[in-house]
Amino acid sequence: MRRRILAAFLLISGLITGVNATARELDLPEAQATLLKKVNQSPLDVIEVIVAALAEKPLPAKQEAYYQYVLSDAYYASILGPDALTAALRAHELAIQTGDETLLHWCKVKVAMAYDMAQDASPGLEYGQSALDWAQQNQNPGMESASLIALGSVNLTLSDFATALSYFKAAYQLARQHPDNQHVAEAAHVASYLGLVHEYQREHRQAIEYYLESADYYRATHNQIELANSLYGLGKAYWSLQDKAQALAHYNESMAISEALGDTQGAAYTALDLVGIQLAETKELNATELYDIAQLLQKTIATFARADNHNMQVNAIIKLAFAYRNAARYEQALVQVNNALVIAHKFGLLQKKVNLLAMQGELFARMNNYKRAYEAAIKRIKAAAEYRDLTDKTQLQQLYAEMEVGKVKHNNELLAAQNARQQAEIKVAKRDKTIIFLVVATLAMLCVAIIVLYVSAKRQHKLTLTLAQTDELTGLLNRRQALKLFEREITLARRHLQPLCMAIADIDDFKIINDTFGHQAGDEVLKFVAAKMCDCFRGSDIIGRIGGEEFLLAFPGVKTESAVTALEAFMGECLVLPEHLSEYQGLTITFSIGLINVDTRFDSTTALGIADELLYQAKAEGKARVVYKAENDVSGFAPKAM
Ligand code: GH3
Ligand code: MG
Ligand code: MG
Repeated sequence: MRRRILAAFLLISGLITGVNATARELDLPEAQATLLKKVNQSPLDVIEVIVAALAEKPLPAKQEAYYQYVLSDAYYASILGPDALTAALRAHELAIQTGDETLLHWCKVKVAMAYDMAQDASPGLEYGQSALDWAQQNQNPGMESASLIALGSVNLTLSDFATALSYFKAAYQLARQHPDNQHVAEAAHVASYLGLVHEYQREHRQAIEYYLESADYYRATHNQIELANSLYGLGKAYWSLQDKAQALAHYNESMAISEALGDTQGAAYTALDLVGIQLAETKELNATELYDIAQLLQKTIATFARADNHNMQVNAIIKLAFAYRNAARYEQALVQVNNALVIAHKFGLLQKKVNLLAMQGELFARMNNYKRAYEAAIKRIKAAAEYRDLTDKTQLQQLYAEMEVGKVKHNNELLAAQNARQQAEIKVAKRDKTIIFLVVATLAMLCVAIIVLYVSAKRQHKLTLTLAQTDELTGLLNRRQALKLFEREITLARRHLQPLCMAIADIDDFKIINDTFGHQAGDEVLKFVAAKMCDCFRGSDIIGRIGGEEFLLAFPGVKTESAVTALEAFMGECLVLPEHLSEYQGLTITFSIGLINVDTRFDSTTALGIADELLYQAKAEGKARVVYKAENDVSGFAPKAM
């Protein structure tokens, strides 16, 4: 296939290139392995067999993948690029389904190679690289070797000679490191690619060295297609070095092999080069020479036409026109040029059109038809301008497309940045919200805690206060609080010149009650008495328990008589026992009471002493009575300490 690559590159700034598979690769089942081996001898037969097998019945994914894999190789060998790519991509797709990683990556190698022959080889780079990476990671030197060759070929097609050379050199190195590994391409096989790159770079001597190595190898391994290619490369390199004998010998051998194989396109390429040598050498052709060349070129033109290889078809027609011109057959030459112009026009081969119009002008001039020569020259100028325009337009379109891509990329970047900024803002807002929520929640909890603490402290304080001021058994004021409030009433009475009565009441024979009915009953009596006091006296009166069975009563704004009446009424009430006390047979509750009208000049202690005296007097007089002093008559009473 390299013959086409080289020819294409050197003759028509070539677009089709490729790398043919070696038989040393994926471990295939026997049927497909046999077919793969046959590709280098008769690719068309292989295509026929596989197409028939695939048409017959649907196959399991893996089996079909193997067939497509070999089919791609056979199409490739036949320079049927689009078919090779379709088969390789199908094999790749099926390989994904099978989940077989090795098969999948071998298919990637095939896809890369097929792209190498397609309109745009660049997608092949990614497939080749993926296969190379996988092969290196999984220590698969066979695949490593094949993917290096594929990557070298794709780079060659993309005119990146330095990169191509580095891949091929790596493959060559690998082959020398593993001379016994059946799956690694032989160094001699890789040498053919190295020869090709050197030929591209017009380093003819180096090219010849490598081609000789590969030609020997292909001869020994009976790889006819590749042998024809290497011989073609040798012919080309020798001719570049003006070694006509060697050039002819190698070209002729190459063409013989191609013809034997039925590789008509291969033979056509070689034929064209051979004619080129002849035309370059001979100044004027004789009739026989012209006849032979014309015969050969007609065959070549037909071959390229059949293969839809229009570029080469036009090249061959131009060669024929040259041959006629060299034989001074200008009319016939003109016919060929016109034929070629029709094809160039039909397939948009603008550059060819420019060259052909130049040739047409030259032919008219030789025929002394200067008018037509002039017309052809004008047409040529127009076509050249058109070609330049197209090139410019293409470049402009390319620049515009690049700018559009850049613009989209820039917009995307802007959008991404905007998105990132919004995300960050949302994040910050969310965080702020959370912080505010936490602060509010903490404050609320603190407030609740403070309120709870305050309420309970208040309650505690009230309780403590109550406990400190009241008598536990009866709930009346205790001695301290009763005296304190009494003291305050004295002050108020003094200030407002109001009367104030005060009495001390002592339960008679309480010890006997305790002794007769028990301490419990005594307590019940004390509680009953306290409750009765609260019932009988006003809320503004002071009622306190100041001893075991001794009570202080103070009546603000009340005169002695009213107080006597109230106290006697109270004593009467206490004679009527409630149900829970009436069970104590013989229980009677009476009091001895000392009552005074308080002289507001005295303090509470003095007043208490006087009342106490009267109380004793009541006891002495036989108990169950109120003994009182007339208004403000305190004479004869000395203050008595309590
Ligand atoms: P008098 O008529 O002369 O006042 O005689 P009395 O028995 O009432 O007086 P006394 O001072 O001899 O006895 C008082 C008794 O009261 C003695 C004490 O045990 C009893 N007492 C004091 N505090 C309480 C109390 O809280 N509960 C009970 N059940 N008895 C108490
Ligand atoms: Mg007493
Ligand atoms: Mg008593």
